[in-house]
Amino acid sequence: MIDTHSHIYLPQFRKDLSEVLDRAADAGVTDILMPAIDFGSLKQMDALSHPSIRFHKMAGIHPCDVEGHPENLVDKLLELGSSADIIAIGETGLDYYWSKEHITAQKESLRRHCEVAKELDKPVILHNRDSTDNLLDIIEEQQDGSLRGIWHCFNGTPEQGQRALELGLHLGIGGVVTFKNAGVDQVVAEMPLDRLVLETDAPYLAPVPKRGKRNEPSFMKYTAQKLSELFGISLEETDRITTENARRLFRLS
Ligand SMILES: [Zn+2]
Repeated sequence: MIDTHSHIYLPQFRKDLSEVLDRAADAGVTDILMPAIDFGSLKQMDALSHPSIRFHKMAGIHPCDVEGHPENLVDKLLELGSSADIIAIGETGLDYYWSKEHITAQKESLRRHCEVAKELDKPVILHNRDSTDNLLDIIEEQQDGSLRGIWHCFNGTPEQGQRALELGLHLGIGGVVTFKNAGVDQVVAEMPLDRLVLETDAPYLAPVPKRGKRNEPSFMKYTAQKLSELFGISLEETDRITTENARRLFRLS
C-alpha cells in the first residue's frame, strides 16, 4: 500500500518513529508520501529512513501557513520542486475553518502552487476545509488539461466529488470514510475506484477503531478494509487497485 499523505516527519513521531515505521512495513506500506507544511518541512523529511519503506517528499506551503509567505513564492517552489526527489507540490489549498482572515492570501498561494505543478508536470496536493466550492472554482480556472492532483481527505457531496473528477482530480480517501454519521462512506461508494488513493493524514484523523488516537501509516489497513466493504471486493484487490492508481498519478516505478 502507498500512504499518499502522511506527516510522519512531525515531532509527534519523534519518540517512537522506528516502531511506527516497522508497524507500517508490517501492515504492507511500501511508500510514504509526505506533504510539506512549509519550506522547513523538507529538512525534517530528510531525516527519515527505513529498510523497506520508500519516502517521497513534496514542497509547498499549507493554507494555514500562508501568512507572511515569501514574495518569491513561485521562484522558491520552482527551485525546490524541480529537484528529482520532490514528487509533488503541496500541500496547498483552502482552509476557512482554521484561518478565515487570510482567504485572499490562501487563494493566491493555491494559484501559484497550481501554476508550478503544471510547469513542473507534477501533481498538486489539495487541502480543503469548509471551502470546497471556492477550491473547485480555482482548480477549474487553473485546469488547462495539464493539471493533475489529489483532493486530499475527500469529504464532499456526490456532486462536488463528480465535479472534482471531471476536473481531473483524484480523491484521497482517509480515516473519515470509517467515521459513522459522517456520510462520507456513502459518497465514496459512488466514486470510481480507479480515481481513489489511500492516505492517512497522520498524525491526524485516525480511522475507526483508532479514532481519536494519533494516526500512523499502519492504520491505513482499516481505511482499506472499509473501502473493500464499500466496493464489495477483497482487501487484496482494494490494495492492488489503489496502489496502482497512486503509482500512475505520481509516476512511481
Ligand atoms: Zn496534510
